[in-house]
Amino acid sequence: MPLNSLPPWPPSLPSSAHLQHLQTLAVTHALAHGFTHLPANPSDPPTHATAAPLSLFPSPFPRHLFELATEIQTVYNALYARIALDWGFLDRVMGGVAKVDSFQGELWRGWKAVREELVQPLQLGIFRSDYLLHSLSSLAPLELKQVEFNTISSSFGALSQKASETHRYLAKETDMFFDSSPYLSTFDNYPLNDALTSIAQGLAEGWAAYGRKDAVVLFVVQDGERNVFDQWALQYELMERHGIKTVRHTFSELDNLVQFDRNSKRIYLPDPLADLVQPREVAVIYYRSAYTPTDYPGPGEWSTRLLLERSRAIKCPSMALQLAGAKKVQQVLTEPGVLEDFLLSPDRPDVGFGKGAGAFTQEDVDNIRKTWIGLWPMDNSEAGQEGYRLAMTQSSRFVLKPQREGGGNNIYRSDIPQELKRLEQQQHQQQQYGARDVMPREAYILMELITPPDGVGNWLVRGGDNKARKADVVSELGVFGVALFGPEGVVNREAGFLMRTKGRESDEGGVAIGISSIDSPVLV
Ligand code: ADP
Ligand code: MG
Ligand code: MG
Repeated sequence: MPLNSLPPWPPSLPSSAHLQHLQTLAVTHALAHGFTHLPANPSDPPTHATAAPLSLFPSPFPRHLFELATEIQTVYNALYARIALDWGFLDRVMGGVAKVDSFQGELWRGWKAVREELVQPLQLGIFRSDYLLHSLSSLAPLELKQVEFNTISSSFGALSQKASETHRYLAKETDMFFDSSPYLSTFDNYPLNDALTSIAQGLAEGWAAYGRKDAVVLFVVQDGERNVFDQWALQYELMERHGIKTVRHTFSELDNLVQFDRNSKRIYLPDPLADLVQPREVAVIYYRSAYTPTDYPGPGEWSTRLLLERSRAIKCPSMALQLAGAKKVQQVLTEPGVLEDFLLSPDRPDVGFGKGAGAFTQEDVDNIRKTWIGLWPMDNSEAGQEGYRLAMTQSSRFVLKPQREGGGNNIYRSDIPQELKRLEQQQHQQQQYGARDVMPREAYILMELITPPDGVGNWLVRGGDNKARKADVVSELGVFGVALFGPEGVVNREAGFLMRTKGRESDEGGVAIGISSIDSPVLV
């Protein structure tokens, strides 16, 4: 049923003693179940962890929009699989970006250089499609609007499953949160979240498709990563439920470690107990790194990336799939006819998924398009000129985004015109003096701001901080998806969800960059 607003939130707590009690229960449950981060600069091996940021209450989310978001995930999975398989489309879109963005340029040129010689037909996608609620006015029905679609390093699957479990536990332990809201008093409203088990299963499916029982899954991680328990939970699940060994290495470390067999294109890694065990073959390469320029401090990392790409291991994601996740692709998809071409054209590869080429329907197309909000290029095309005019004259309606991941890169509202001017000046200087690493405005896209409904609050508990903070909040729902595909599709499923909640005053979200808390939805 359409809703115009969310119920008043959070439900009131009878006293400050109740708040204190709830917080103690929440943090203790979190610590006991690995809902944790490493502190900054941990010792090796680490000696302690802190609770990851958590909201005390689950946050309200309209049931029909939650169902829409989870139901269309398999269509989104298929869409992005088809994009990754369409070399012509990626060349047209990302080849253009490559000229103006040196990071995307390295990625696209690297992929182009190796793509003819790839021997592994399968690619693994662990995706997360992120949404905010959009409220045009207090009289209009709430809508579901997509923020972005992530194809690399989609994180917080494990911690989000644990946040859902902590909220369920609190509901049980406290008589459904002291009966303070009708929504909190029945478990029908707490959707089950299997993100951890389902994402681990995706990695296991990739491993099984590779077909070597002694091979391992390689986790490529960042130096100084604090969100390690979100990753380790997947590793434990792979071992305990599937009997699959994993190894973790930073991207830079791999340069010296990977052994590449030129004939078979199989790759091997020495075991940590190298004297005792033969090097282990790698079945799946799972990147929790390699998505941002700082992951590539020098040419060594780019050559490692290409070496791994050329190997027989199944990549999660492939370079093509990473390119498909660029924000520029998200913008081009909104151009007339592009979505129809990917979903409805009979010429598209039958990536399986139980729906052959052209087997998606107009309803699928409509459901996907419903989740989009205005996007403009920032180039010299007609649409780009219109985008530029809107950005300069009505900046309060927009966010300007470069082709980056990981949070903290966007430019909001009144900062946009001055940023666009700065880019023009830089470009001018580049033309005159040959300045390097300048991104002209074509490297950005312009996006209409999604405006979440107000009147929603929550208590946010930061790790290491023993005082919950009450704030007006905005919640971002992410839906995970797993796709294993090649010329034929093997797996396509929805794989649980993530809810992140941030103070309303903050434009940017992001748990890793210290802004959002992990949350779970309560359906209203
Ligand atoms: P990243 O890949 O760095 O996570 P996002 O596109 O997700 O980039 O933007 C980061 C954050 O900025 C989002 O989590 C969201 O909180 C906010 N944001 C992004 N786009 C919009 C938008 N169109 N309207 C409102 N907020 C947005
Ligand atoms: Mg992203
Ligand atoms: Mg994001």
